Amino acid sequence: MKRIFAKFLVFVIILGLAAGFSQDVRTSYADEISSGKSSDNTLIIRARDCTAVYNGLIQGEGDTTYADAADIAEKVYVEGLRSGDQLVKIDLFSQGDKPADYPIYVSGAGILYGAGNPKDSYDIVYQDGVFSIKRKDLIVTTGSASGKYDGKPLTNSDVSLSGLVNGETAFVKATGSQTNAGSSDNTYSIDWETADSNCYNLIEKLGRLVVDPLEATIAVDSASKIFGDSDPDFTGTVEGLLKEGDLGEVKFVRKGDDEAPGTYTGVLTASYENNGNYRVSEKKGDFTITGFTVTFRANGGSGSMKAATDVGGDYKLPACLFTAPDGRMFDCWEVYGKEYAERDTITVTGDTAVTAKWKKTDPGHVHDLSLVEAKEATCTEEGNEAYYTCSGCGKWFEDKSALVEITDKSSVIIKALGHKWDKGVVTKEATYTAEGIRTYTCERDSSHTKTEKIPKKERRSDDDDDDGGDGTVWTQAGSWSLDASGWHCLENGVPVRNDWRYLPYNGVSYWYFFDGNGLMKTGWLERGGSRYYLWPFSDGWMGRMVTGRQQIEGKWYYFEPAAGKDQGHLYTDTTTPDGYRVGADGARMP
Ligand SMILES: [Zn+2]
Ligand SMILES: [Zn+2]
Repeated sequence: MKRIFAKFLVFVIILGLAAGFSQDVRTSYADEISSGKSSDNTLIIRARDCTAVYNGLIQGEGDTTYADAADIAEKVYVEGLRSGDQLVKIDLFSQGDKPADYPIYVSGAGILYGAGNPKDSYDIVYQDGVFSIKRKDLIVTTGSASGKYDGKPLTNSDVSLSGLVNGETAFVKATGSQTNAGSSDNTYSIDWETADSNCYNLIEKLGRLVVDPLEATIAVDSASKIFGDSDPDFTGTVEGLLKEGDLGEVKFVRKGDDEAPGTYTGVLTASYENNGNYRVSEKKGDFTITGFTVTFRANGGSGSMKAATDVGGDYKLPACLFTAPDGRMFDCWEVYGKEYAERDTITVTGDTAVTAKWKKTDPGHVHDLSLVEAKEATCTEEGNEAYYTCSGCGKWFEDKSALVEITDKSSVIIKALGHKWDKGVVTKEATYTAEGIRTYTCERDSSHTKTEKIPKKERRSDDDDDDGGDGTVWTQAGSWSLDASGWHCLENGVPVRNDWRYLPYNGVSYWYFFDGNGLMKTGWLERGGSRYYLWPFSDGWMGRMVTGRQQIEGKWYYFEPAAGKDQGHLYTDTTTPDGYRVGADGARMP
Protein backbone atom coordinates (compact mmCIF):
# COMPACT_ATOMS: atom_id res chain seq x y z
CA MET A 1 0.00 0.00 0.00
CA LYS A 2 2.85 2.33 0.73
CA ARG A 3 3.94 2.19 -2.83
CA ILE A 4 0.52 3.13 -4.12
CA PHE A 5 0.15 6.13 -1.89
CA ALA A 6 3.55 7.42 -2.95
CA LYS A 7 2.53 7.13 -6.53
CA PHE A 8 -0.70 8.92 -5.85
CA LEU A 9 1.12 11.94 -4.46
CA VAL A 10 3.20 12.15 -7.59
CA PHE A 11 0.08 11.76 -9.63
CA VAL A 12 -1.70 14.65 -7.92
CA ILE A 13 1.23 16.91 -8.63
CA ILE A 14 1.26 15.87 -12.29
CA LEU A 15 -2.48 16.39 -12.44
CA GLY A 16 -2.15 19.91 -11.15
CA LEU A 17 0.47 20.76 -13.73
CA ALA A 18 -0.96 19.01 -16.73
CA ALA A 19 -4.68 19.64 -16.52
CA GLY A 20 -4.64 23.39 -16.33
CA PHE A 21 -8.37 23.67 -15.80
CA SER A 22 -9.74 26.21 -13.47
CA GLN A 23 -12.13 24.04 -11.46
CA ASP A 24 -11.35 20.48 -10.56
CA VAL A 25 -13.91 18.90 -8.31
CA ARG A 26 -13.14 15.46 -6.97
CA THR A 27 -15.79 13.27 -5.38
CA SER A 28 -15.49 9.99 -3.67
CA TYR A 29 -15.75 7.09 -6.06
CA ALA A 30 -18.81 5.99 -4.09
CA ASP A 31 -20.78 9.12 -4.98
CA GLU A 32 -23.50 8.95 -7.52
CA ILE A 33 -23.14 10.84 -10.75
CA SER A 34 -26.37 12.78 -10.09
CA SER A 35 -25.14 14.17 -6.77
CA GLY A 36 -22.16 15.75 -8.49
CA LYS A 37 -24.24 17.68 -10.95
CA SER A 38 -24.28 21.34 -9.88
CA SER A 39 -25.03 23.46 -12.94
CA ASP A 40 -25.59 23.37 -16.64
CA ASN A 41 -21.87 23.77 -17.07
CA THR A 42 -21.06 20.62 -15.17
CA LEU A 43 -19.10 18.02 -17.10
CA ILE A 44 -19.07 14.72 -15.28
CA ILE A 45 -16.34 12.21 -16.08
CA ARG A 46 -16.58 8.94 -14.22
CA ALA A 47 -14.14 6.09 -14.48
CA ARG A 48 -15.74 2.81 -15.51
CA ASP A 49 -15.46 -0.05 -13.01
CA CYS A 50 -13.24 -2.94 -13.90
CA THR A 51 -12.06 -6.18 -12.38
CA ALA A 52 -9.00 -8.36 -12.40
CA VAL A 53 -8.03 -11.65 -10.82
CA TYR A 54 -5.24 -11.86 -8.30
CA ASN A 55 -1.99 -12.77 -10.03
CA GLY A 56 0.56 -11.90 -7.38
CA LEU A 57 1.55 -8.72 -9.24
CA ILE A 58 0.55 -5.08 -9.09
CA GLN A 59 -2.36 -4.65 -11.48
CA GLY A 60 -4.41 -1.73 -12.78
CA GLU A 61 -3.76 1.45 -14.65
CA GLY A 62 -0.48 3.16 -13.88
CA ASP A 63 -0.35 6.82 -14.76
CA THR A 64 -1.98 6.20 -18.06
CA THR A 65 -3.04 8.83 -20.52
CA TYR A 66 -5.66 8.00 -23.11
CA ALA A 67 -6.02 10.19 -26.16
CA ASP A 68 -7.87 7.87 -28.51
CA ALA A 69 -11.65 8.42 -28.66
CA ALA A 70 -12.46 4.70 -28.59
CA ASP A 71 -10.12 4.10 -25.62
CA ILE A 72 -11.60 7.04 -23.75
CA ALA A 73 -15.15 5.78 -24.32
CA GLU A 74 -14.09 2.41 -22.96
CA LYS A 75 -12.55 3.90 -19.83
CA VAL A 76 -14.99 6.60 -18.71
CA TYR A 77 -18.59 7.70 -18.74
CA VAL A 78 -19.06 11.29 -19.85
CA GLU A 79 -22.11 13.41 -19.12
CA GLY A 80 -22.69 17.06 -19.92
CA LEU A 81 -20.43 17.47 -22.93
CA ARG A 82 -21.86 20.04 -25.29
CA SER A 83 -22.57 19.14 -28.86
CA GLY A 84 -19.51 19.79 -30.96
CA ASP A 85 -17.07 19.51 -28.02
CA GLN A 86 -14.88 16.41 -27.77
CA LEU A 87 -13.09 14.80 -24.85
CA VAL A 88 -9.69 14.08 -26.36
CA LYS A 89 -7.59 13.14 -23.32
CA ILE A 90 -7.93 11.67 -19.87
CA ASP A 91 -5.51 10.32 -17.27
CA LEU A 92 -6.30 7.27 -15.19
CA PHE A 93 -4.71 5.86 -12.11
CA SER A 94 -5.67 2.80 -10.08
CA GLN A 95 -3.43 0.17 -8.68
CA GLY A 96 -3.58 -2.73 -6.31
CA ASP A 97 -2.13 -6.13 -5.78
CA LYS A 98 -4.14 -8.03 -3.12
CA PRO A 99 -7.78 -8.92 -3.63
CA ALA A 100 -9.73 -5.79 -2.69
CA ASP A 101 -11.59 -2.84 -4.22
CA TYR A 102 -9.40 0.07 -5.28
CA PRO A 103 -10.46 3.47 -6.58
CA ILE A 104 -9.90 4.33 -10.20
CA TYR A 105 -8.94 7.95 -10.29
CA VAL A 106 -9.69 9.92 -13.39
CA SER A 107 -8.23 13.36 -14.12
CA GLY A 108 -6.58 15.46 -16.75
CA ALA A 109 -9.48 15.88 -19.11
CA GLY A 110 -8.48 17.53 -22.36
CA ILE A 111 -11.33 19.09 -24.32
CA LEU A 112 -11.35 20.09 -27.97
CA TYR A 113 -13.99 22.80 -28.28
CA GLY A 114 -16.27 22.87 -31.25
CA ALA A 115 -16.41 25.90 -33.51
CA GLY A 116 -18.33 28.70 -31.88
CA ASN A 117 -18.61 26.86 -28.50
CA PRO A 118 -17.44 28.72 -25.42
CA LYS A 119 -14.02 27.64 -24.15
CA ASP A 120 -12.91 26.91 -20.55
CA SER A 121 -16.50 27.01 -19.41
CA TYR A 122 -16.97 23.55 -17.81
CA ASP A 123 -17.12 22.76 -14.13
CA ILE A 124 -15.50 19.32 -14.40
CA VAL A 125 -16.49 16.72 -11.82
CA TYR A 126 -14.28 13.64 -11.75
CA GLN A 127 -15.81 10.55 -10.23
CA ASP A 128 -13.81 7.50 -9.17
CA GLY A 129 -14.51 4.06 -10.52
CA VAL A 130 -13.87 0.80 -8.74
CA PHE A 131 -11.03 -1.48 -9.66
CA SER A 132 -11.79 -4.80 -8.05
CA ILE A 133 -9.17 -7.52 -7.72
CA LYS A 134 -10.85 -10.87 -7.14
CA ARG A 135 -9.40 -13.89 -5.38
CA LYS A 136 -7.73 -16.44 -7.63
CA ASP A 137 -9.39 -19.88 -7.80
CA LEU A 138 -7.11 -22.45 -6.24
CA ILE A 139 -8.21 -26.03 -6.87
CA VAL A 140 -7.26 -28.73 -4.43
CA THR A 141 -7.84 -32.24 -5.74
CA THR A 142 -7.48 -35.41 -3.69
CA GLY A 143 -7.55 -38.99 -4.90
CA SER A 144 -10.21 -41.65 -4.27
CA ALA A 145 -9.74 -45.17 -3.01
CA SER A 146 -11.91 -48.16 -2.29
CA GLY A 147 -11.39 -51.50 -0.72
CA LYS A 148 -12.77 -54.15 1.57
CA TYR A 149 -12.67 -53.71 5.30
CA ASP A 150 -9.31 -54.93 6.58
CA GLY A 151 -9.13 -53.14 9.91
CA LYS A 152 -6.59 -50.71 8.52
CA PRO A 153 -7.17 -47.11 7.51
CA LEU A 154 -7.85 -46.67 3.81
CA THR A 155 -6.05 -43.59 2.53
CA ASN A 156 -4.91 -42.10 -0.75
CA SER A 157 -2.04 -39.65 -0.58
CA ASP A 158 -2.63 -38.35 -4.12
CA VAL A 159 -3.22 -34.63 -3.89
CA SER A 160 -2.66 -31.66 -6.14
CA LEU A 161 -3.01 -27.93 -5.90
CA SER A 162 -3.48 -25.95 -9.07
CA GLY A 163 -3.81 -22.22 -9.49
CA LEU A 164 -0.95 -20.75 -7.46
CA VAL A 165 0.47 -17.70 -9.25
CA ASN A 166 3.72 -15.85 -9.46
CA GLY A 167 5.79 -18.66 -8.02
CA GLU A 168 3.93 -18.65 -4.71
CA THR A 169 4.09 -21.86 -2.76
CA ALA A 170 1.79 -23.78 -0.44
CA PHE A 171 2.06 -27.34 0.83
CA VAL A 172 -0.98 -29.55 0.72
CA LYS A 173 -1.35 -33.04 2.13
CA ALA A 174 -4.21 -35.56 1.82
CA THR A 175 -5.38 -36.42 5.32
CA GLY A 176 -8.56 -38.45 4.71
CA SER A 177 -8.86 -41.86 6.31
CA GLN A 178 -11.64 -44.46 6.42
CA THR A 179 -11.21 -47.60 8.48
CA ASN A 180 -14.71 -48.93 9.10
CA ALA A 181 -17.07 -49.90 6.31
CA GLY A 182 -18.55 -46.70 4.97
CA SER A 183 -17.28 -43.73 3.04
CA SER A 184 -15.90 -40.26 3.61
CA ASP A 185 -14.19 -37.42 1.77
CA ASN A 186 -10.45 -37.62 1.32
CA THR A 187 -9.81 -34.45 3.30
CA TYR A 188 -6.58 -32.43 3.24
CA SER A 189 -4.54 -29.96 5.18
CA ILE A 190 -2.86 -26.96 3.65
CA ASP A 191 0.18 -25.08 4.87
CA TRP A 192 0.29 -21.61 3.32
CA GLU A 193 3.97 -21.11 2.75
CA THR A 194 4.67 -18.03 0.64
CA ALA A 195 1.11 -17.88 -0.62
CA ASP A 196 -1.49 -15.76 1.22
CA SER A 197 -4.71 -17.62 1.94
CA ASN A 198 -6.62 -14.32 1.61
CA CYS A 199 -5.65 -14.09 -2.03
CA TYR A 200 -7.18 -17.42 -3.07
CA ASN A 201 -10.60 -18.90 -3.36
CA LEU A 202 -10.15 -22.53 -2.42
CA ILE A 203 -12.17 -24.95 -4.55
CA GLU A 204 -12.25 -28.53 -3.29
CA LYS A 205 -12.44 -31.51 -5.59
CA LEU A 206 -12.17 -34.22 -2.99
CA GLY A 207 -11.98 -37.93 -3.69
CA ARG A 208 -14.03 -40.47 -1.73
CA LEU A 209 -12.66 -43.20 0.46
CA VAL A 210 -15.02 -46.16 0.28
CA VAL A 211 -14.65 -49.22 2.49
CA ASP A 212 -16.93 -52.13 1.69
CA PRO A 213 -17.89 -54.64 4.33
CA LEU A 214 -16.00 -57.91 4.39
CA GLU A 215 -17.87 -61.12 3.67
CA ALA A 216 -18.09 -63.53 6.56
CA THR A 217 -19.87 -66.85 6.69
CA ILE A 218 -21.39 -68.71 9.58
CA ALA A 219 -22.19 -72.34 8.87
CA VAL A 220 -24.25 -74.04 11.54
CA ASP A 221 -23.70 -77.78 11.71
CA SER A 222 -26.72 -80.01 11.41
CA ALA A 223 -27.39 -82.05 14.54
CA SER A 224 -29.64 -84.75 15.91
CA LYS A 225 -30.80 -86.25 19.14
CA ILE A 226 -32.88 -89.12 20.32
CA PHE A 227 -36.40 -88.27 21.42
CA GLY A 228 -36.53 -87.29 25.07
CA ASP A 229 -32.86 -86.36 25.31
CA SER A 230 -31.90 -82.78 25.92
CA ASP A 231 -30.49 -80.84 22.99
CA PRO A 232 -26.80 -81.31 22.32
CA ASP A 233 -24.44 -78.35 22.27
CA PHE A 234 -24.84 -76.97 18.78
CA THR A 235 -21.74 -76.21 16.78
CA GLY A 236 -20.73 -74.38 13.65
CA THR A 237 -17.90 -72.56 12.00
CA VAL A 238 -17.30 -68.89 11.48
CA GLU A 239 -15.10 -67.88 8.60
CA GLY A 240 -13.86 -64.61 7.23
CA LEU A 241 -13.42 -62.61 10.43
CA LEU A 242 -10.33 -60.47 10.76
CA LYS A 243 -10.43 -60.88 14.50
CA GLU A 244 -12.15 -63.45 16.61
CA GLY A 245 -14.89 -61.62 18.45
CA ASP A 246 -15.68 -59.20 15.65
CA LEU A 247 -19.23 -60.59 15.74
CA GLY A 248 -19.28 -60.83 19.53
CA GLU A 249 -19.81 -64.29 20.94
CA VAL A 250 -21.29 -66.42 18.19
CA LYS A 251 -23.82 -68.82 19.70
CA PHE A 252 -25.53 -71.66 17.91
CA VAL A 253 -29.15 -72.12 18.89
CA ARG A 254 -32.27 -73.99 17.86
CA LYS A 255 -35.36 -72.07 16.82
CA GLY A 256 -38.67 -73.42 18.04
CA ASP A 257 -39.36 -75.98 20.72
CA ASP A 258 -40.50 -78.96 18.70
CA GLU A 259 -39.87 -82.21 20.47
CA ALA A 260 -41.79 -84.62 18.23
CA PRO A 261 -39.68 -86.95 16.13
CA GLY A 262 -38.88 -85.58 12.71
CA THR A 263 -36.41 -83.50 10.76
CA TYR A 264 -36.63 -79.76 11.12
CA THR A 265 -34.97 -77.93 8.27
CA GLY A 266 -32.98 -74.78 8.90
CA VAL A 267 -33.86 -74.47 12.59
CA LEU A 268 -30.26 -74.38 13.80
CA THR A 269 -29.12 -70.80 13.57
CA ALA A 270 -26.43 -68.54 14.89
CA SER A 271 -26.83 -65.51 17.10
CA TYR A 272 -24.18 -62.86 16.94
CA GLU A 273 -23.66 -59.15 17.24
CA ASN A 274 -24.14 -57.19 14.07
CA ASN A 275 -21.02 -55.47 12.88
CA GLY A 276 -21.28 -53.08 9.98
CA ASN A 277 -17.83 -54.12 8.84
CA TYR A 278 -19.13 -57.54 7.83
CA ARG A 279 -21.72 -58.81 5.44
CA VAL A 280 -22.60 -62.08 7.12
CA SER A 281 -24.15 -64.96 5.27
CA GLU A 282 -25.50 -67.70 7.42
CA LYS A 283 -25.97 -71.33 6.46
CA LYS A 284 -28.53 -72.81 8.79
CA GLY A 285 -28.40 -76.37 10.04
CA ASP A 286 -31.09 -79.03 10.20
CA PHE A 287 -32.14 -80.77 13.40
CA THR A 288 -33.36 -84.34 13.53
CA ILE A 289 -35.18 -85.87 16.48
CA THR A 290 -35.12 -89.63 16.21
CA GLY A 291 -38.10 -91.55 17.57
CA PHE A 292 -38.70 -95.18 18.50
CA THR A 293 -40.40 -98.20 17.01
CA VAL A 294 -43.59 -99.67 18.45
CA THR A 295 -44.12 -103.33 17.49
CA PHE A 296 -47.18 -105.50 18.04
CA ARG A 297 -47.10 -109.12 19.22
CA ALA A 298 -49.98 -111.45 18.38
CA ASN A 299 -49.28 -113.63 21.46
CA GLY A 300 -50.91 -116.76 19.94
CA GLY A 301 -53.33 -114.83 17.73
CA SER A 302 -52.88 -114.66 13.98
CA GLY A 303 -52.50 -111.99 11.34
CA SER A 304 -50.04 -109.14 11.41
CA MET A 305 -49.91 -105.55 12.47
CA LYS A 306 -47.45 -103.12 11.03
CA ALA A 307 -44.98 -101.55 13.42
CA ALA A 308 -45.24 -97.83 14.04
CA THR A 309 -41.97 -96.00 13.47
CA ASP A 310 -40.47 -92.74 14.65
CA VAL A 311 -42.75 -92.55 17.65
CA GLY A 312 -41.94 -90.46 20.68
CA GLY A 313 -43.96 -89.33 23.67
CA ASP A 314 -47.71 -89.75 23.57
CA TYR A 315 -48.83 -92.59 21.40
CA LYS A 316 -52.40 -93.75 20.93
CA LEU A 317 -52.70 -97.52 20.86
CA PRO A 318 -54.61 -98.85 17.83
CA ALA A 319 -57.49 -101.26 17.74
CA CYS A 320 -56.28 -104.85 17.82
CA LEU A 321 -56.35 -106.21 14.30
CA PHE A 322 -55.01 -109.66 15.17
CA THR A 323 -57.39 -112.56 14.92
CA ALA A 324 -57.94 -114.10 18.34
CA PRO A 325 -57.00 -117.73 18.93
CA ASP A 326 -59.97 -120.15 18.94
CA GLY A 327 -62.22 -119.69 21.90
CA ARG A 328 -60.54 -116.47 22.90
CA MET A 329 -61.19 -112.80 22.48
CA PHE A 330 -59.15 -109.63 22.82
CA ASP A 331 -58.79 -108.56 26.40
CA CYS A 332 -56.26 -105.74 26.44
CA TRP A 333 -52.86 -104.55 25.28
CA GLU A 334 -49.96 -105.15 27.60
CA VAL A 335 -47.06 -102.71 27.60
CA TYR A 336 -44.22 -103.13 30.10
CA GLY A 337 -46.48 -105.19 32.34
CA LYS A 338 -49.32 -102.71 32.41
CA GLU A 339 -52.68 -103.20 30.74
CA TYR A 340 -54.31 -100.75 28.33
CA ALA A 341 -57.53 -100.69 26.34
CA GLU A 342 -57.54 -100.05 22.58
CA ARG A 343 -57.06 -96.30 21.89
CA ASP A 344 -55.53 -95.66 25.27
CA THR A 345 -52.54 -93.33 25.12
CA ILE A 346 -49.17 -94.51 26.32
CA THR A 347 -45.88 -92.65 26.63
CA VAL A 348 -43.16 -94.02 24.39
CA THR A 349 -39.62 -93.35 25.56
CA GLY A 350 -37.84 -96.22 23.85
CA ASP A 351 -38.45 -99.06 21.40
CA THR A 352 -41.65 -100.60 22.71
CA ALA A 353 -43.40 -103.97 22.30
CA VAL A 354 -47.18 -104.03 22.60
CA THR A 355 -48.61 -107.48 23.30
CA ALA A 356 -52.20 -108.59 22.73
CA LYS A 357 -53.74 -110.36 25.72
CA TRP A 358 -56.55 -112.77 25.15
CA LYS A 359 -59.34 -113.99 27.38
CA LYS A 360 -61.71 -116.91 27.19
CA THR A 361 -65.06 -116.37 25.58
CA ASP A 362 -68.35 -117.67 26.92
CA PRO A 363 -69.70 -119.68 24.00
CA GLY A 364 -73.31 -119.47 25.24
CA HIS A 365 -73.44 -115.73 25.80
CA VAL A 366 -75.77 -113.18 24.23
CA HIS A 367 -73.83 -110.57 22.31
CA ASP A 368 -73.55 -107.33 24.23
CA LEU A 369 -72.85 -104.76 21.51
CA SER A 370 -71.51 -101.28 21.75
CA LEU A 371 -71.07 -98.85 18.84
CA VAL A 372 -67.67 -97.63 17.75
CA GLU A 373 -68.50 -94.47 15.86
CA ALA A 374 -67.15 -93.73 12.45
CA LYS A 375 -64.07 -91.53 12.43
CA GLU A 376 -62.43 -89.83 9.46
CA ALA A 377 -58.80 -90.51 8.88
CA THR A 378 -56.42 -87.57 8.89
CA CYS A 379 -53.00 -87.18 7.31
CA THR A 380 -51.31 -88.88 10.22
CA GLU A 381 -54.07 -90.73 12.14
CA GLU A 382 -56.11 -93.66 10.96
CA GLY A 383 -59.89 -93.54 11.05
CA ASN A 384 -62.55 -96.22 10.92
CA GLU A 385 -66.00 -96.99 9.67
CA ALA A 386 -68.70 -97.45 12.26
CA TYR A 387 -68.89 -100.98 13.76
CA TYR A 388 -70.12 -102.81 16.82
CA THR A 389 -68.05 -104.77 19.30
CA CYS A 390 -69.25 -107.42 21.66
CA SER A 391 -67.82 -107.25 25.18
CA GLY A 392 -68.62 -110.91 25.69
CA CYS A 393 -66.82 -112.49 22.75
CA GLY A 394 -64.71 -109.65 21.27
CA LYS A 395 -66.22 -110.13 17.83
CA TRP A 396 -66.94 -107.14 15.58
CA PHE A 397 -70.20 -106.73 13.70
CA GLU A 398 -71.36 -104.43 10.94
CA ASP A 399 -74.85 -104.11 12.44
CA LYS A 400 -76.34 -103.67 15.86
CA SER A 401 -78.23 -106.97 15.57
CA ALA A 402 -74.94 -108.87 15.30
CA LEU A 403 -76.02 -110.49 12.03
CA VAL A 404 -72.95 -109.65 9.90
CA GLU A 405 -69.68 -110.39 11.59
CA ILE A 406 -66.56 -108.50 10.52
CA THR A 407 -64.00 -111.25 10.24
CA ASP A 408 -61.28 -109.06 8.75
CA LYS A 409 -61.02 -106.35 11.37
CA SER A 410 -58.58 -104.34 9.27
CA SER A 411 -61.36 -103.85 6.67
CA VAL A 412 -63.10 -101.19 8.79
CA ILE A 413 -59.89 -99.35 9.56
CA ILE A 414 -59.29 -96.40 7.27
CA LYS A 415 -55.60 -95.89 6.93
CA ALA A 416 -54.06 -92.53 7.70
CA LEU A 417 -54.30 -90.55 4.47
CA GLY A 418 -50.76 -89.28 4.43
CA HIS A 419 -50.00 -85.74 3.47
CA LYS A 420 -51.02 -84.54 0.04
CA TRP A 421 -48.20 -82.27 -0.88
CA ASP A 422 -48.66 -79.53 -3.43
CA LYS A 423 -46.03 -78.82 -6.06
CA GLY A 424 -44.15 -76.69 -3.60
CA VAL A 425 -42.73 -73.24 -3.95
CA VAL A 426 -39.12 -72.29 -4.02
CA THR A 427 -38.55 -70.47 -0.75
CA LYS A 428 -34.85 -70.14 -1.42
CA GLU A 429 -33.38 -70.22 -4.90
CA ALA A 430 -30.48 -72.55 -5.45
CA THR A 431 -27.38 -70.93 -6.81
CA TYR A 432 -24.36 -72.46 -8.43
CA THR A 433 -22.67 -72.40 -5.05
CA ALA A 434 -25.46 -73.05 -2.54
CA GLU A 435 -28.43 -75.37 -2.21
CA GLY A 436 -31.92 -73.91 -2.29
CA ILE A 437 -35.09 -74.88 -0.44
CA ARG A 438 -38.48 -75.87 -1.78
CA THR A 439 -41.35 -75.80 0.69
CA TYR A 440 -44.37 -78.03 0.20
CA THR A 441 -47.73 -77.44 1.86
CA CYS A 442 -50.25 -80.21 2.55
CA GLU A 443 -53.42 -79.69 0.55
CA ARG A 444 -55.45 -81.37 3.31
CA ASP A 445 -54.13 -79.17 6.11
CA SER A 446 -52.06 -76.09 5.40
CA SER A 447 -50.41 -76.31 8.81
CA HIS A 448 -48.50 -79.32 7.48
CA THR A 449 -45.39 -78.32 5.58
CA LYS A 450 -42.19 -79.97 4.58
CA THR A 451 -39.05 -78.73 2.95
CA GLU A 452 -36.75 -80.25 0.44
CA LYS A 453 -33.29 -79.21 -0.56
CA ILE A 454 -32.78 -78.05 -4.12
CA PRO A 455 -29.41 -79.16 -5.37
CA LYS A 456 -26.92 -76.60 -6.51
CA LYS A 457 -27.50 -75.54 -10.09
CA GLU A 458 -25.92 -77.55 -12.85
CA ARG A 459 -26.97 -78.60 -16.30
CA ARG A 460 -26.17 -81.56 -18.45
CA SER A 461 -24.64 -80.82 -21.79
CA ASP A 462 -26.92 -83.39 -23.45
CA ASP A 463 -30.33 -82.40 -22.22
CA ASP A 464 -32.06 -84.96 -24.43
CA ASP A 465 -32.29 -87.74 -21.94
CA ASP A 466 -33.31 -90.28 -24.57
CA ASP A 467 -30.10 -90.14 -26.54
CA GLY A 468 -28.14 -92.36 -24.20
CA GLY A 469 -25.47 -89.75 -23.61
CA ASP A 470 -23.59 -89.97 -20.39
CA GLY A 471 -24.75 -86.54 -19.27
CA THR A 472 -21.41 -84.97 -18.57
CA VAL A 473 -21.86 -82.04 -16.29
CA TRP A 474 -20.70 -79.00 -18.12
CA THR A 475 -19.14 -76.40 -15.93
CA GLN A 476 -16.54 -74.46 -17.85
CA ALA A 477 -17.31 -71.18 -19.51
CA GLY A 478 -16.67 -70.82 -23.18
CA SER A 479 -15.98 -67.45 -24.64
CA TRP A 480 -18.43 -65.16 -26.40
CA SER A 481 -17.74 -64.28 -29.99
CA LEU A 482 -19.62 -61.87 -32.24
CA ASP A 483 -19.57 -61.85 -36.00
CA ALA A 484 -21.86 -60.54 -38.74
CA SER A 485 -24.36 -63.40 -38.23
CA GLY A 486 -24.65 -62.89 -34.46
CA TRP A 487 -23.34 -64.26 -31.19
CA HIS A 488 -21.47 -67.56 -30.90
CA CYS A 489 -19.79 -69.43 -28.11
CA LEU A 490 -16.30 -70.73 -28.74
CA GLU A 491 -14.65 -73.48 -26.77
CA ASN A 492 -11.01 -73.85 -27.66
CA GLY A 493 -11.92 -72.04 -30.86
CA VAL A 494 -14.69 -74.51 -31.76
CA PRO A 495 -18.24 -73.14 -31.91
CA VAL A 496 -20.81 -74.79 -29.65
CA ARG A 497 -23.65 -76.22 -31.77
CA ASN A 498 -27.08 -77.57 -30.82
CA ASP A 499 -26.34 -77.19 -27.15
CA TRP A 500 -26.81 -75.16 -24.04
CA ARG A 501 -24.07 -73.24 -22.32
CA TYR A 502 -24.13 -71.44 -19.01
CA LEU A 503 -22.14 -68.33 -19.71
CA PRO A 504 -21.17 -65.24 -17.82
CA TYR A 505 -21.65 -61.82 -19.34
CA ASN A 506 -21.08 -58.54 -17.53
CA GLY A 507 -20.79 -60.43 -14.27
CA VAL A 508 -24.08 -62.31 -14.55
CA SER A 509 -24.45 -65.85 -15.82
CA TYR A 510 -27.40 -67.37 -17.67
CA TRP A 511 -28.16 -70.33 -19.90
CA TYR A 512 -27.93 -69.70 -23.63
CA PHE A 513 -28.68 -72.02 -26.55
CA PHE A 514 -26.67 -72.25 -29.76
CA ASP A 515 -28.27 -73.72 -32.86
CA GLY A 516 -26.85 -76.04 -35.50
CA ASN A 517 -24.97 -73.16 -37.06
CA GLY A 518 -23.51 -72.22 -33.71
CA LEU A 519 -25.68 -69.10 -33.61
CA MET A 520 -27.20 -67.94 -30.31
CA LYS A 521 -30.99 -68.51 -30.46
CA THR A 522 -33.65 -66.08 -29.26
CA GLY A 523 -37.38 -66.42 -28.78
CA TRP A 524 -39.23 -69.73 -28.36
CA LEU A 525 -37.23 -72.95 -28.43
CA GLU A 526 -38.56 -76.53 -28.61
CA ARG A 527 -36.08 -78.94 -27.16
CA GLY A 528 -36.30 -82.42 -25.68
CA GLY A 529 -40.12 -82.22 -25.40
CA SER A 530 -39.98 -78.91 -23.51
CA ARG A 531 -40.50 -75.35 -24.60
CA TYR A 532 -38.15 -72.63 -23.50
CA TYR A 533 -38.07 -68.89 -24.05
CA LEU A 534 -34.82 -67.16 -24.86
CA TRP A 535 -34.98 -63.44 -24.16
CA PRO A 536 -35.09 -61.74 -27.58
CA PHE A 537 -34.56 -58.14 -26.51
CA SER A 538 -31.28 -56.34 -26.28
CA ASP A 539 -30.91 -55.57 -22.58
CA GLY A 540 -27.37 -56.76 -22.05
CA TRP A 541 -28.30 -60.43 -21.80
CA MET A 542 -30.22 -61.13 -24.97
CA GLY A 543 -30.65 -64.83 -25.54
CA ARG A 544 -30.76 -65.78 -21.86
CA MET A 545 -33.13 -68.57 -20.88
CA VAL A 546 -35.92 -67.08 -18.75
CA THR A 547 -37.32 -68.70 -15.60
CA GLY A 548 -40.26 -68.12 -13.30
CA ARG A 549 -43.26 -65.98 -14.21
CA GLN A 550 -42.81 -64.03 -17.43
CA GLN A 551 -45.03 -61.82 -19.56
CA ILE A 552 -44.49 -62.40 -23.25
CA GLU A 553 -46.45 -60.53 -25.88
CA GLY A 554 -49.09 -59.64 -23.30
CA LYS A 555 -49.59 -63.19 -21.98
CA TRP A 556 -48.29 -64.63 -18.74
CA TYR A 557 -46.26 -67.83 -18.76
CA TYR A 558 -44.46 -69.80 -16.12
CA PHE A 559 -41.06 -71.40 -16.64
CA GLU A 560 -39.54 -73.84 -14.17
CA PRO A 561 -37.29 -71.83 -11.87
CA ALA A 562 -35.65 -74.70 -9.98
CA ALA A 563 -32.21 -75.74 -11.07
CA GLY A 564 -31.75 -79.04 -12.78
CA LYS A 565 -32.45 -80.40 -16.18
CA ASP A 566 -36.05 -79.11 -16.12
CA GLN A 567 -35.03 -75.55 -15.41
CA GLY A 568 -36.59 -73.13 -17.87
CA HIS A 569 -39.21 -75.55 -19.21
CA LEU A 570 -42.65 -74.06 -19.88
CA TYR A 571 -45.57 -75.21 -17.72
CA THR A 572 -48.53 -76.24 -19.90
CA ASP A 573 -52.07 -77.47 -19.20
CA THR A 574 -51.66 -77.45 -15.44
CA THR A 575 -51.70 -75.23 -12.38
CA THR A 576 -48.47 -73.35 -11.97
CA PRO A 577 -46.68 -73.23 -8.60
CA ASP A 578 -47.85 -69.63 -8.23
CA GLY A 579 -51.43 -70.86 -8.45
CA TYR A 580 -52.70 -70.09 -11.96
CA ARG A 581 -54.22 -72.36 -14.62
CA VAL A 582 -52.29 -72.42 -17.86
CA GLY A 583 -53.56 -73.82 -21.13
CA ALA A 584 -51.94 -76.19 -23.62
CA ASP A 585 -49.98 -73.27 -25.08
CA GLY A 586 -48.71 -72.34 -21.62
CA ALA A 587 -50.59 -69.03 -21.49
CA ARG A 588 -52.39 -68.20 -18.26
CA MET A 589 -56.17 -68.72 -18.45
CA PRO A 590 -58.24 -65.59 -17.95
ZN1 LIG B 1 -70.45 -111.76 21.71
ZN1 LIG C 1 -51.21 -83.27 5.93
